[in-house]
Amino acid sequence: MGESIFFNKKQYFWVREALEIAETLAEDYFRVDLGDYERFPYDLQTLANLRVLEKTQRALAQVCKYEYYKRESFSKFKGREFYRICLQDDKILNTVQTESSSLLRPLLLCIVTHELIHVIRFSLDPKKFYLKLQEKRMEESDVHQTTYELLKYLKDPQVGFFLDLYRPRREEGGLDSKGPALDNI
Ligand SMILES: [Zn+2]
Repeated sequence: MGESIFFNKKQYFWVREALEIAETLAEDYFRVDLGDYERFPYDLQTLANLRVLEKTQRALAQVCKYEYYKRESFSKFKGREFYRICLQDDKILNTVQTESSSLLRPLLLCIVTHELIHVIRFSLDPKKFYLKLQEKRMEESDVHQTTYELLKYLKDPQVGFFLDLYRPRREEGGLDSKGPALDNI
C-alpha cells in the first residue's frame, strides 16, 4: 500500500499546533495582533484544499497572494489583499521519510514559522511580494534570520537541525540538488 500524499489527522493536528506556536511567538516578536484580520489577512491550507496554482513541485511550501476589490459602499470599492500559506504535504512527508517521522513536528514548526513571517512582512509592506531576484534573496535571508530569532528560545535541537538545513545558501541553486527548497520566495 502506498503512503498517503496528504497529512493524516494526527499530522494535520501538528500543522495547527505549529501555526499556534508560530503565531504566539510572532505576535510577541513583531508586537502585532494577528487576530486583526484587516491588517493580517491570511490563512493556511494543506494539500487537500489547495487549488492548482497553489501547488508547487519545487518547494515544501509557498505563499500565494490574492488581490481583489471589496465594495465599501454603493460606488466605492477598496483594493484588498489576502495571503495563503500553502503547505505541500507530499513534499514535506517525503522529506521526513528519508530522515525520521519524529522530525515532522519540528520541520512543520520551521516551515510554518518561516511562511508566517513572510506573510507578516508582506502585510506590513506589500511591495515585498514583488521584489527582484537579488532583493528576494536578501528578503529570504532576513526571513530566515527572524525565524531563527523566534525559534531559538525553544532550544529544540531538531528545530535547530532544520534551521541549519534550510539556511539560505549563497551558492546558486541552494538546496535544489538535495530536494525541494523550503519555499518559492
Ligand atoms: Zn522563504
